[in-house]
Amino acid sequence: NADTAMYRAKEAGRNNFQFFTAEMNANAMEMMKLERDLRYALDNEEFLLYYQPKVSCRTGRIVGFEALLRWQHPLRGMVSPLEFIPLLEETGLIVPVGAWVLHTASAQARTWQEAGLGKLNIAVNVSGKQVGQHLCATVREALAASGLPAEHLELELTESQLMKDAEGIISTLRQLKATGVSISVDDFGTGYSSLAYLKRFPLDTLKIDRAFVRDLAADANDVSIAKAIITLAHSFNLKVVAEGVETEDQLSLLIANQCDIIQGYYFSKPLPTTEATAMLQQSRCLPAHLLCQQALSA
Ligand code: C2E
Ligand code: MG
Ligand code: MG
Ligand code: MG
Repeated sequence: NADTAMYRAKEAGRNNFQFFTAEMNANAMEMMKLERDLRYALDNEEFLLYYQPKVSCRTGRIVGFEALLRWQHPLRGMVSPLEFIPLLEETGLIVPVGAWVLHTASAQARTWQEAGLGKLNIAVNVSGKQVGQHLCATVREALAASGLPAEHLELELTESQLMKDAEGIISTLRQLKATGVSISVDDFGTGYSSLAYLKRFPLDTLKIDRAFVRDLAADANDVSIAKAIITLAHSFNLKVVAEGVETEDQLSLLIANQCDIIQGYYFSKPLPTTEATAMLQQSRCLPAHLLCQQALSA
């Protein structure tokens, strides 16, 4: 097995050519197995979506959810998207899987709306690989099939994916905007955005990356970064979502600095559909004493 092989290779010295070949083959085999399993997963409905609430810092209420892909593998159990999304992208499977996510999430949001549970927004993560592959048509189809009004669908693209092919992506983003959906920059602050692009992209929201939220209560530099992102966003007329909010201290700092929306374990982990529905039915909200003063008096 791999561990013994590793041990032997170390013993044998650095230039054990055979060992590396064997290991590379093992990796390639593992990848092929995973790819086959992913194709099977799509055909056999092993993918599902979890939903994480997004909560208004003004009203304390749930304003929408982010749909997060999960893979319920018969043997491996629940697999994290971090483990399989890179392979979906490499194999191009992200296109059909991403279309399934758009359809399923839009339909779920419509179901919640029709049940009278609020004019919720649904956010879907979109890979840069989908952008060139008829994303606009797929989005229109998902909206038409579900009956969800376009203004309730939000697409999240990571900052690094946006910047990788900024010029190429810009026209697709404009077409998407023309359909009425919103565009969010995910994991903002970890890539290398040029302000010139922030101005040219038709954006609606910046999501402050979890990395800056994590140490907010302990690190004055992170408070400065969060403040700067919020000010920047507002000056471009964009909303700000803070992701990965886990504690009341983080929440208070974000509210004090005019953050618009929070998302994170403090309020709720991503939930299976039935639990998300139950949370909506209970009208769960943030504790009123934490909300911003202006909001209370307004
Ligand atoms: P993301 O879009 O930035 O999503 C946020 C991730 O942070 C989620 O991980 C979520 O479960 C996790 N998270 C939320 N709140 C907290 C918190 O308070 N503390 C901590 N420690 N973590 C928190 P998840 O679900 O494992 O997804 C990981 C990434 O996979 C996502 O990052 C997104 O980039 C990607 N992804 C998920 N679903 C899809 C999808 O349908 N399509 C594409 N293309 N990518 C997806
Ligand atoms: Mg996201
Ligand atoms: Mg994110
Ligand atoms: Mg992230």
